[in-house]
Amino acid sequence: MSEQRVKVFDTTLRDGEQAPGFSLRVNEKLQLARQLDRLGVDIIEAGFPIASPADADAVRRIAQEVRRPVIAALARCHRADLEKAAWSLEPAARGRIHTFIATSDLHLQAKLRISREQCLETAVDSVRFARQHTDDVQFSAEDATRSDLDFLCRVVEAVIRAGATTINLPDTVGFATPDETLEFFKTIRTRVSNADAVTFSTHCHDDLGLAAANSIAAVQGGARQVECTVNGIGERAGNAALEEIVMAMHVRRDRYAYSVGIVHKEIYPSSELLTRLTGQAVQVNKAVVGRNAFAHEAGIHQDGILKDRRTYEIMRAEDVGAPWNPLVLGKHSGRHAVQKRCKDLGLEVAGAELVEVYRALMAIADDRKILTDHDIIAVVSSVRTAQPAAHGPVDPFDTPSAVAHALHERGYGHGV
Ligand code: MN
Repeated sequence: MSEQRVKVFDTTLRDGEQAPGFSLRVNEKLQLARQLDRLGVDIIEAGFPIASPADADAVRRIAQEVRRPVIAALARCHRADLEKAAWSLEPAARGRIHTFIATSDLHLQAKLRISREQCLETAVDSVRFARQHTDDVQFSAEDATRSDLDFLCRVVEAVIRAGATTINLPDTVGFATPDETLEFFKTIRTRVSNADAVTFSTHCHDDLGLAAANSIAAVQGGARQVECTVNGIGERAGNAALEEIVMAMHVRRDRYAYSVGIVHKEIYPSSELLTRLTGQAVQVNKAVVGRNAFAHEAGIHQDGILKDRRTYEIMRAEDVGAPWNPLVLGKHSGRHAVQKRCKDLGLEVAGAELVEVYRALMAIADDRKILTDHDIIAVVSSVRTAQPAAHGPVDPFDTPSAVAHALHERGYGHGV
């Protein structure tokens, strides 16, 4: 079975940045764009130039400096938007104008207040106009998954004839289900006569937590471009997370014979850079990039991990460039894991001493939620100096000992 190449269209800098609390300065966007280049995305949607002069600037600078990926700029089906997008992309090695208009009756009537015929005409005109500036034109039918299927097919066929080269069918409000999405792409590709001339694209939102599943279903239905963001950031509940789609396809390549250009080891560094620049933390249990994604606290799990990592891990933290500190010590942890962590910290504890250290750690585990290396060093050191194990906050450097000193020398300073 030969692998089909699926393009990754990253919209962290557009749909992601649009979410409340995620706005970025021009130089921060440029820094992220460089990281997305290292990550291996095929297309970077760098912004929505008409939205603000800073957005237009950011797109232009990214187009100037990031040369490998295609740089896309968003534009409504308005002349001014399209002209601004074209201007922003002037310096690009490969620029793409991404124009969109809603096609669902709800959006046409309630929001745009235009008829279906006006929508179709505007879409065709805009694609033609965009093609005067670049050969790479993407058209998105906003709210595609809630649009009348016959009308949507008419629009898609018409914009392909007008010169669109990528057709994106967004699930703008995260309403679709995976089985429906697969069917949707298959049906449209069958019914649109010139479908084979273009690349179909999926753009899913996570309002029901189905964004990654829907994106993969779309690929199974024939989409060859997935739109996604790092950490799944984006409007409302966010966009499909790049790391989830990519790792699902990789870990389950027995089911998904698709290849993407993503460099797995750059996934975590990308997530971390985004978190740092936006100041918005990733939820701890987030798939692939969350702090707990490769951590194990329960004794049974820790025991399994120590014997063979595959017992509780389907992928390795190192594979996505994440640090692997799997044994989180807390009140569910066993003696075995405590002993192993002590050993990693250069502290050999066994026998009666281990029993005592373990008992002391468990006594403070309830209050501390997670036992840090700091706590462990402190407890071992207090057990060894025959002091009673401390309750509440503990700081080994308040009670200097040879052990704490040695660890300090090895770089375990305050704030370990
Ligand atoms: Mn969106």
